[in-house]
Amino acid sequence: MSVAFGVIGLLMLFWFGSAQALEHAQVVCEVRTMGKTYWVDANPTLDRYHVAATPVSKRFRFRLLVSGTEQRIDSIKIDVQATTERQPILVHQATLLPPFAPVPALLNGENRVYSPEYERELWYRCQLGPTPTEAVSLRQRLSNQTTDDPTAPPPKRVAARDTEPSVSMLFAGDIMLDEIPGRLIKRGRDPLAAVAKQLAGADIRIGNLESVVSRVGQAEPAKPYAFRAHPRVLPILARHFDAVSVANNHTGDYGSLAFADMLAKLRSAGIQAFGGGTNLASAHRPLIFERNGLRIALLGYNDFMPRSFEADTDKPGSAWASEADIRADIRTARSEYGAHLVIPVMHWGVEYEPFANPHQKELAHLMIDAGADAVVGGHPHVTQDIEIYRDKLIVYSLGNFVFNGFNTVSTRTGWLLRLKLSPEGVSDWTILPVRLDRSGRPKLLLGYR
Ligand SMILES: [Zn+2]
Repeated sequence: MSVAFGVIGLLMLFWFGSAQALEHAQVVCEVRTMGKTYWVDANPTLDRYHVAATPVSKRFRFRLLVSGTEQRIDSIKIDVQATTERQPILVHQATLLPPFAPVPALLNGENRVYSPEYERELWYRCQLGPTPTEAVSLRQRLSNQTTDDPTAPPPKRVAARDTEPSVSMLFAGDIMLDEIPGRLIKRGRDPLAAVAKQLAGADIRIGNLESVVSRVGQAEPAKPYAFRAHPRVLPILARHFDAVSVANNHTGDYGSLAFADMLAKLRSAGIQAFGGGTNLASAHRPLIFERNGLRIALLGYNDFMPRSFEADTDKPGSAWASEADIRADIRTARSEYGAHLVIPVMHWGVEYEPFANPHQKELAHLMIDAGADAVVGGHPHVTQDIEIYRDKLIVYSLGNFVFNGFNTVSTRTGWLLRLKLSPEGVSDWTILPVRLDRSGRPKLLLGYR
């Protein structure tokens, strides 16, 4: 049986003391699925690497690893495995390293793991307590905070009181506007009508444009799929998106002339592009949004062949995900463009693989280490796992968003990622799963708003 999973994660820890001066620190997690609640706790004073694991219904296994000593916690790792007929597979992973503060956001939410194959959701949240004796009161405190069964309808989010400026940013996965979506637009229809409200509700809306938009150029002979959308799709795209990444394996399908033509057409339609440009320097230039005094830089990179689509000193094309360039671009976004936040948008991974591979993880960690505030990816046509690394969010793949030609549940399930950004980083995030119909049009899954 081939099993593909999507994962929704959101992790929350309430911090009661400083990371350096904890005594008898202990982590308690409340886990719910299918109407039942499970408790998992781990205490590093019992064991330098304390692992607590428990089966959670027939579908999942929840594992918590806390390493540390009486004086301090060195790391908290959480993973959720889905139970399959063959073997358990990892569907969610979060790694938290000190200092756990000062971005409380990623540590004070609800974590949700969603499997598109089973359509089952696991929900959890954890707290860190200073002494094991408080474990019971922690459980009580957690229990008092929840009255709903979160695994039935999606949990209602309690809006944090805003004391500082915040900006909402929405990320959509792969958008292909050739073929059926293109024909729908030709007939005056809007393939994004069913998600228009969600898109309109965000301050900044970003997608990955997985087709060139032009009437010129020749299809690359070596490519099995070449997508070229008619420029008539641009008003629809402009209606729903502020900017698109052009760093992917399809914007070059009709050559660099068509690519350059697309850049000009996007600009005149009022859509900004990033991750590509008329030459190498502009392909690596960050796209800056300024909202409520917050300057946010977006960078886009393609990490999937062919490399022939790459920009060069005198050739239009996309930005390639070279490690040295990524590090330099993140640094430049802050130093020269005055960005408060930097978010790389990646095109990477293996198609139909439900989990990020070691190369993706290495690149994502490199970006966070270089100063990125979050990393958002796509390309595999399915959603992939979510990781929290050094307190920063990594969503490895958002899956498809507008794309016909797919027939499985996992390839027809995509995510809209909603980020709340504050000067300190990502202060909250939510995933809205969508299901694509036969024509490749997204619609929110039942219960999501
Ligand atoms: Zn792709």
